Amino acid sequence: MDLREEVARRRTFAIISHPDAGKTTLTEKLLLYGGAIVTAGQVAARRRARAATSDWMELERERGISITSTVLQFPYRDHTMNLLDTPGHQDFGEDTYRTLLAADAAVMLIDAAKGVEPQTRKLFAICRARRIPLFTFINKMDRPSRDPLELLDELENVLGIGAYPMNWPLGNGETFRGVYDRASGDVHVFERTRHGAKRAPVTASDPRDPKIAALVDERTYREFLDQLDLLEGAGAAFERDAMLRGDVTPVFFGSAVTNFGVELFLDAFVTMGPPPAPRLDSAKHLVEPTDGRFSGFVFKIQANMDPRHRDRIAFLRVCSGKFERDMTVRNVRTGKDVRLTRAMKLFASDRESVDVAFAGDVVGLANPGVFAIGDTLAEGDGVRFEPIPAYEPEHFALVRSIDTASYKSFQKGIAQLREEGAIQVFYPFGQTRIEPILAAVGALQFEVVKYRLESEYNVKTAFQTLPYTTARRVAGDNPGAATLGSSARLVEDWDGKPIALFESEWGIGLVQQWNPGLRFEAFGARELAE
Ligand code: GDP
Repeated sequence: MDLREEVARRRTFAIISHPDAGKTTLTEKLLLYGGAIVTAGQVAARRRARAATSDWMELERERGISITSTVLQFPYRDHTMNLLDTPGHQDFGEDTYRTLLAADAAVMLIDAAKGVEPQTRKLFAICRARRIPLFTFINKMDRPSRDPLELLDELENVLGIGAYPMNWPLGNGETFRGVYDRASGDVHVFERTRHGAKRAPVTASDPRDPKIAALVDERTYREFLDQLDLLEGAGAAFERDAMLRGDVTPVFFGSAVTNFGVELFLDAFVTMGPPPAPRLDSAKHLVEPTDGRFSGFVFKIQANMDPRHRDRIAFLRVCSGKFERDMTVRNVRTGKDVRLTRAMKLFASDRESVDVAFAGDVVGLANPGVFAIGDTLAEGDGVRFEPIPAYEPEHFALVRSIDTASYKSFQKGIAQLREEGAIQVFYPFGQTRIEPILAAVGALQFEVVKYRLESEYNVKTAFQTLPYTTARRVAGDNPGAATLGSSARLVEDWDGKPIALFESEWGIGLVQQWNPGLRFEAFGARELAE
């Protein structure tokens, strides 16, 4: 198969949702339909097994969350699917954000009883800023749900994206029997399988077939037909281009736990979803995925997946050309050539070595210390992707090493954890760098850093939470002389650039008035998200 075909059949995406909407369940069902697992339940089981065998996972288990995440590759109808798994916890971290930067599309998963929830909005904003195509799956239709029309309105009014129903539910909760597929004009009637462990058997019929009427009570059926008339009356056809621009999201109703609607959704996703997109490099030149020269960027570094080795894996998103094991490429940041000997694919906690990969694929590289977040790896010179902007932090803490004898290890640990993107590190502005101020998007990042400093660097630390809730980059002359008052503080980032920390959004306006010669600018990534 040539490069063009390989690229065309790839779909690289992430699922965004509020915790509990059913992301783990849907992920399992996608794997089930892709044939990657025989019965659903294995992803959750593997997660549990992994948690039971590693002390790094102790933190995850104690908190009942998933901090680490992997990339799941599975085949589906001649396509190669790359599902970038993001942590499902409430505590949105920078990892989640960076993972979304490596995806070409997202699936927004919504609980039909709850609608758009806070985490959905936050993640949606990141996708929106990049204008990546978004598919919507409204889940848990087998439970009493909100009115489908009302849910669509919410997508349009709360998120500001056009919502186009691709199918329509027949019944709701106990009476949910299937969906009307607008493209084919058939009602897909589902049968329940026990715990949805196997693919759901489906039969298709015309909505006006008496067999369909007999599935639900008369009132439900009449309402269903009325709503279909309403939909068809609205007339507008689905426009794939509007979806590709991020203006419209196709909406699918279903129930992941019973497999209802999962296959219809997947079929539509592979047919209409985008193949790997070209990427802008820092010279504003588009790198095409079918470009013969290999390039990619590191979007995530994960530590200690295997506690016996205590190693780190850099995740590389391939952007163009063909990756081959043992190839030598340039790390554009350091200017050094690296041979990619240990490349792997990950499935839950299993590793498999990778011989070839194409644009859209994600490869794990176990080269400790060689890579940092945002690094471009490329064949030859010329390509350098835009750096990954830091996400605006909302949590701040002063950290010091309790035992002064371990200060060197402490410094080394902080530097490495920063480089792999586990945490942002600031220092008091213009002073000798002794005690760092750590900055995080989610407070859980602090716990992870504390845990890792102790287990990997043998350093016990004390964290002191600071009262700030937001940060701004300071532009203009002589920021050191700024008047900040008592509720803001000037710090510098790793490169010495000034940053002001504020206790409240309100404080920013005030400080701006006091310092008309300076500008207090949102972080790049936040601008991206607004
Ligand atoms: P996550 O936090 O988004 O990963 O959510 P999970 O996949 O762990 O699901 C949260 C809960 O919702 C679990 O108890 C699931 O069994 C349940 N759930 C997921 N999908 C469905 C569904 O379609 N219908 C019903 N009734 N429950 C579901």
